[in-house]
Amino acid sequence: MKLEHVGIAVSELGMSNELFRRLLGRENYKTETVDSEHVTTSFFKAGGTKIELLESGDEESAIARFIAKKGEGIHHLAFKVEDIYAEMKRLGGLGFELLNSEPKLGADNKLICFLHPKSTNGVLIELCQDIEN
Ligand code: ZN
Repeated sequence: MKLEHVGIAVSELGMSNELFRRLLGRENYKTETVDSEHVTTSFFKAGGTKIELLESGDEESAIARFIAKKGEGIHHLAFKVEDIYAEMKRLGGLGFELLNSEPKLGADNKLICFLHPKSTNGVLIELCQDIEN
């Protein structure tokens, strides 16, 4: 599995966009609202991987709850897979706890599934597969 991106929970996307623009020396290449997750995302390229900034759209979002509990910071690691259904089956069979039983539509034109951090050393893991256009 290749590290596709690192997800970072942020309180205020405008300020964090500016911070990462200065840090990485480049503009974000995409901003996208994911209605199903109640988040707005912003993507930066960083070497062979990406940084995904996540700002909550309302108090119901997982990002709002994460920040209330832990503050801003690294939220998840996302690994790219070729066949998300096969990987979900494989990892479920190995005892990893899947947070959704079917892949969901995520940002950046992807099917995604999360693994519960309690089965992955406290790190939320996202599996993602590109959707063929
Ligand atoms: Zn992600």
